[in-house]
Amino acid sequence: MTTSKKIRYKYLAFTAGVLNVVVALIVIIGWYTDNVQLRSVVAGYTTMKFNTAICLILLGKGLAMQATHYLRPIRPLSFFSSGLAFVIAALTIAENFGSPIIIDQALIKDYTPGLAHPGRMSISTALSICIVALGIILSSSVKPSIIRLSQFLLHTVTSISFVAGLGYVFNISLLYTFGISTPMALHTSICLLVLSVGASLINYRYGITAVFTGNKIGNVMARNLFIKLAIVMVIASYLDIYVQKYEVMGTGVGSAIFSVTIIFMSFFFIWETSKTLNNQDKKRELISERLNLIFEAMPNALVMANSEGKIILVNKETEKMFGYDREELIGQGLEMLLPKKLRSGHPDKMKGFFASPFTRHFSSQANLYAARKNNEEFPIELGLTPVKTEEGIIALATVVDITERKTNERIIQEQLRELKIRNQEMEQFNYIASHDLQEPLRTVANYIVLLEEDYPADEEVNMHLNAMKQATNRMSRLIKTLLDYGLLGRDKVLTLTNVNALLKDVTADLNNLIKTTGSTVSIENEMPEIYAYETELRQLFQNLINNAIKFRKKDENPVINIGYEFKDGVHEFYVSDNGIGINTRHYKNIFNIFQRVNRQEEYEGYGVGLANCKKIAEMHGGKIWVESVYGEGSTFKFTLTNIKP
Ligand code: ADP
Repeated sequence: MTTSKKIRYKYLAFTAGVLNVVVALIVIIGWYTDNVQLRSVVAGYTTMKFNTAICLILLGKGLAMQATHYLRPIRPLSFFSSGLAFVIAALTIAENFGSPIIIDQALIKDYTPGLAHPGRMSISTALSICIVALGIILSSSVKPSIIRLSQFLLHTVTSISFVAGLGYVFNISLLYTFGISTPMALHTSICLLVLSVGASLINYRYGITAVFTGNKIGNVMARNLFIKLAIVMVIASYLDIYVQKYEVMGTGVGSAIFSVTIIFMSFFFIWETSKTLNNQDKKRELISERLNLIFEAMPNALVMANSEGKIILVNKETEKMFGYDREELIGQGLEMLLPKKLRSGHPDKMKGFFASPFTRHFSSQANLYAARKNNEEFPIELGLTPVKTEEGIIALATVVDITERKTNERIIQEQLRELKIRNQEMEQFNYIASHDLQEPLRTVANYIVLLEEDYPADEEVNMHLNAMKQATNRMSRLIKTLLDYGLLGRDKVLTLTNVNALLKDVTADLNNLIKTTGSTVSIENEMPEIYAYETELRQLFQNLINNAIKFRKKDENPVINIGYEFKDGVHEFYVSDNGIGINTRHYKNIFNIFQRVNRQEEYEGYGVGLANCKKIAEMHGGKIWVESVYGEGSTFKFTLTNIKP
């Protein structure tokens, strides 16, 4: 809002500058072409002097440059422009006091008959030019006192040129000659008026300009009333003078009509303005009502206190949270909402807040407590915001009762601790069970060897022994697999991993298998560099590529594509193949440990690879799933979140 306003006023100032240049250029053309009409606007009126036109061009240019930031780099030129206008006008003033330097006709001769000083601008014009020039130069200052001085100078010229303009409207020469012989030309006065008002818009927040540009109710009134009343006064005065001059009616009647007109028009404008103000007031009331509703409906307790720490306003939630009625709280010290043991130290803390009033927030970590009417203490989260009011700064306290959150946090903490203990127990059990189960298996295996030695020639015995041996081997491998699954990720280390390099390693390790099966493995796009548990991630890719080759079609060479995408804030990878595919109903269970879909004789395995993959993806805060067309191939996708070390 303010920025657009600023731009608008600067644009207006710029336009004022340009208008001056244009008018002055027309006058200059008038001088060169000896066209009196162009020099004086209305034939018979005073001409704008050549030097005045030069000064107005310089000032207009100076103002336009000042007003637009595009020309900021050449701002010194603007000072030079306005400065030169100042010098020309000052030399002219000096001429009137007998200075030997005469510049009136330095550039062009003035043949207008009957002039005491041909070509010389009026002293009031020269003075106004000097003042405007100073005003424009000083307007670029950043010091408020200088800006105020600049506005004062510009307002002075606005008044002078306005009076001169009125002189022409009323045809009262005293107003544009100021009692001095050479008059200020009509267009000079208009140019100076536009120039000084335009220049005062550069610092529109200062001086009288601020009265008209502000947003407050008084400014709206000033804008509405002043301009309209000024116009009415001018028209009425003009008519009054006209009536008197041509004796249209008796003197008394004219003045009476003048007064009545002014009174009626003023009443009309005041009535109209009061309507606008009332509307604004209504809007303000509506906003205040709405704010009040919001204040009351807030789910947090809101308490306002003055600089003495006395409560001045509370909302419904405060009554509910603390158990007091509103009337019991208003006018009391804030400390009544605190546990008794903390009350004595509170006034000092309040003083500290008002000494440096900025917004503060105390989270649950700050361990703050409040007290209800029944003295029950409860944990809170607190926000303190200073609010500027006409009575000075007041504090707005936002209180959130976090009893429930704290209880939940405690429960979660306890459950976490329990879960950790259970996990450790499980790991221990897994380890011991797998370890101890191997022992009797080894004993059975040893007895098989002994039996083989004892019955070397008995074929039937040997066949049974062989079957037993295979079964114990398989059991041993299953136990080992279970142990590995339990230990997976136990010693995980988070490292910045270049997935490109990691995939190169994995494919190099599988090179033999890839070659012997005639597989092609392609990495479809650039892989990222992310924080990951490198050893485990390597195993994940290895399992997926291994499966993609293992579950190939008999009559087709495996084609495996690996790709990556950063999607919805997570890293998503895929490994796709043209293998046998997976039936929809197995999409979920293949990720469970020891779950297999195909027959053991066809495809070897224990059904632990994908269970491992799932555990690894979850370890990275991600998930894994499969999309497949049965008989045509599968795409395994998994995500990894952005884990920070
Ligand atoms: P394993 O490979 O030891 O059987 P996995 O846990 O790696 O165990 O896989 C579980 C099951 O999922 C496999 O038995 C197989 O039926 C199916 N499967 C896994 N990968 C693929 C694949 N790329 N194409 C088809 N089926 C697959």
